[in-house]
Amino acid sequence: MTPALAALVARAEILTHDLSLDCVREWKAEAPGRLAMGHLPIAVPRELIHAAGMLPVGIVGGGDRLEIIRGDAYFQSYICHIPRSTIELALSGRLDALDGMLFPSICDVIRNLSGMWRLLFPDRYVHYVDLPQNFAPETGGRFWRHELDILRADFARLTGRPIDDEALRASIAVYNAQREALGDLYEARARAPWCFPAGEMYQVVRAGNLLPPEAHTAFMRDYIREAPLDPDRHDQDRSRVVVVGMFCEQPPVGLLLTLERAGCWIVDDDLQLGLRWLTEAVPLDGDPLDNLTQAFLSTHVRTASMYEPEGHRGSGLVDAVRRRGAEGVIFCAPSFCDPALLDQPMLVAALDRAGIPHTQFKYTEDTGQFAVIREQAGTFSDSIRLWSQA
Ligand code: SF4
Repeated sequence: MTPALAALVARAEILTHDLSLDCVREWKAEAPGRLAMGHLPIAVPRELIHAAGMLPVGIVGGGDRLEIIRGDAYFQSYICHIPRSTIELALSGRLDALDGMLFPSICDVIRNLSGMWRLLFPDRYVHYVDLPQNFAPETGGRFWRHELDILRADFARLTGRPIDDEALRASIAVYNAQREALGDLYEARARAPWCFPAGEMYQVVRAGNLLPPEAHTAFMRDYIREAPLDPDRHDQDRSRVVVVGMFCEQPPVGLLLTLERAGCWIVDDDLQLGLRWLTEAVPLDGDPLDNLTQAFLSTHVRTASMYEPEGHRGSGLVDAVRRRGAEGVIFCAPSFCDPALLDQPMLVAALDRAGIPHTQFKYTEDTGQFAVIREQAGTFSDSIRLWSQA
């Protein structure tokens, strides 16, 4: 590995395990009065947080390095893991650098978590961000614009200064650059997945939860340039797969490594979807909140938490498989994740209609045993290669 690439990878690893938000504390300490706004997966208007002069901070649970001491007491056993680890992070003071929290309406678990947050931290700013599930401008559009107006006013109150349109346009431009870099990274990985190992790339992308967007864009650009220069990275006889289901609670990095070691090249995924929520650049001319609204309606990613008209479910996944030249799909969802697991039968039906092979398993963010997953993914990869040769 070249020294430049090693430094990038080491930085990404440090950020992945920065559960106490040390880098956010450092950012706040650089200038007096700086505020940081946390948010759960998936979509929140990060542009608006940025335009207010605050740092958007994506919280994606505690992963596999956090011991849950008090978090379990707040939730029943038959739900996913991310709410209990998030509560644990907060109760242990690790999230004290945050001046507020946004909870996007991804599922009932997150809704309940937002209510619990209000009870536990009555002095902190909390907002439940209700995402529209109707994408007509006169209904869902009006609704989302209203939500953005509320957040704009709230953030102005928090920071003590209004957010003007010019600041919003500048922030949209910053996030357009980040979107473009993310798109380029995913394209580059699909072309040569051996240059961008899944665990490593995941951590580079995930760094966008903590870094200011300008710094994250530069970080990704450096990684896109440096990763292919590693002389030890070569193509191998592996199956190209798309992995879906990981849009909220994150898998341990070891699970992604396991999939590769089992013989898969991951050529697309739905990890860190909140950073990639809008699939196209947002226009800069005109009213910036109208532009953000229209972008939400027409260019949001297709995922389990968003409504799709009858008969359309799964076509986005089939398109992704074809666009990335993938040979199969691995459904890899957190245990008890209602959105991912209820979506799965419809996605499976779409893949079956298209003749695309698939397999599935579940994980929790603190899964530590990968032997069974390795066997299953290895068998899947082998069978894909055998079928393609046949
Ligand atoms: S992992 Fe699934 S069920 Fe759990 S909070 Fe996230 S979307 Fe909801």
